[in-house]
Amino acid sequence: MARRPLIAGNWKMHKTHLEGVQLTQKLAWALSSEDTDAVEVVVCPPFTALRSVGTLIDGDKLPIGLGAQDCHPEPQGAFTGEIAAPMLAKLGCAYVIVGHSERRQHFGETDELVNRKARAVLGAGMRPIVCVGETLEQREAGQTAEVVQGQVRGSLAGLPAEQVAGLVVAYEPVWAIGTGRAATAEDAQETIALVRGTVAELAGRTAADELRIQYGGSVKAGNAEELAAKPDIDGALVGGASLDADELALIVKGSARHAR
Ligand code: PEP
Repeated sequence: MARRPLIAGNWKMHKTHLEGVQLTQKLAWALSSEDTDAVEVVVCPPFTALRSVGTLIDGDKLPIGLGAQDCHPEPQGAFTGEIAAPMLAKLGCAYVIVGHSERRQHFGETDELVNRKARAVLGAGMRPIVCVGETLEQREAGQTAEVVQGQVRGSLAGLPAEQVAGLVVAYEPVWAIGTGRAATAEDAQETIALVRGTVAELAGRTAADELRIQYGGSVKAGNAEELAAKPDIDGALVGGASLDADELALIVKGSARHAR
């Protein structure tokens, strides 16, 4: 079964709600229906812009999905400042990024917490984008496979095969995020194939063949097509370049050329 690539823009802590509406409008103008038929396109604004961007997408029937960048594992409670998965679902989010390396690095998130967040997202009827990836130190020590497989096993632990089949994993080597130094398409393919193999061990071959695995880390218009040509790479999680609507549209078009 062909997997439809997913290009998701992670805006991180950028854009007010007004700027977010402008960016989304510009992105929609730059995309053709051929692009969005071939490739699923999602934007992940900060929490404060979700409502405005979601209202624009709904009102103008834009072919763009909405995602959030994080959530709390509990559905509600006394957790001042946090956002629960059902609140995001109610705003029209279809995806939630969990376990981004910036959250693992700066907020001490563990695989166990990422697993709880993934369950919360699934429980609220959305799809998690589960991020995994090794640091430069780990890569140089030859630990890439061990680290990434451990993160996949921990983050997806105990999830039923039907749920695993519908979620998304983003392989994002930490050394490639925001550095301008992307992994080569060959290296990304090799690790992503390994991730798919690990998912097959956990949830079976069928789920592993259905699950989409993105590459993330300094994806730009210039390298998107080469990455998209690899058989196991099902789109991209895009940080910096997603803040430029024309650049993100070119990434989508590069991916679409290989999806048709
Ligand atoms: C990211 O934030 O997930 C990311 C991949 O960032 P960038 O594209 O800027 O490297």
